[in-house]
Amino acid sequence: MNQRIRPPLPPEWPFPPSRDVTGRSFGDLVALQYRGAGVWLWKCRCGNYVSAGLDAVEGGQTRDCGCRAQRRVWRSRPGSPALRGGEVFGQLTTDRYAGDGLWICRCDCGREVTVSAGRLRLGQARSCGLCPGASTG
Ligand SMILES: [Zn+2]
Ligand SMILES: [Zn+2]
Repeated sequence: MNQRIRPPLPPEWPFPPSRDVTGRSFGDLVALQYRGAGVWLWKCRCGNYVSAGLDAVEGGQTRDCGCRAQRRVWRSRPGSPALRGGEVFGQLTTDRYAGDGLWICRCDCGREVTVSAGRLRLGQARSCGLCPGASTG
């Protein structure tokens, strides 16, 4: 039921939440904005945005945008070149294999960048590095 949302943020929900948790963090998620009906927009530590119910996040069912499970998968196949087209790493989506362990990725901002599969798997490459939404570090 989690739904990825890409910046820019949608307009603010016009009604206040019954409980304001803006800025509080749960697991890897920080509450950004109330979206109505108990649902909040969260920013994950990996830089992704995700909307999820406060209940689910507070109850521990949702503790990140899904990136932990992804990282586990990547770790389980170390050294494998077996990324596929369409895999999402932060703002990057793998497009096609360029050979030599390099992947051509499309950033959310529209740029194409060539990134090594290793850096993608380790989370060191999450955007083209040139767009306003690029996260540093
Ligand atoms: Zn994440
Ligand atoms: Zn970009």
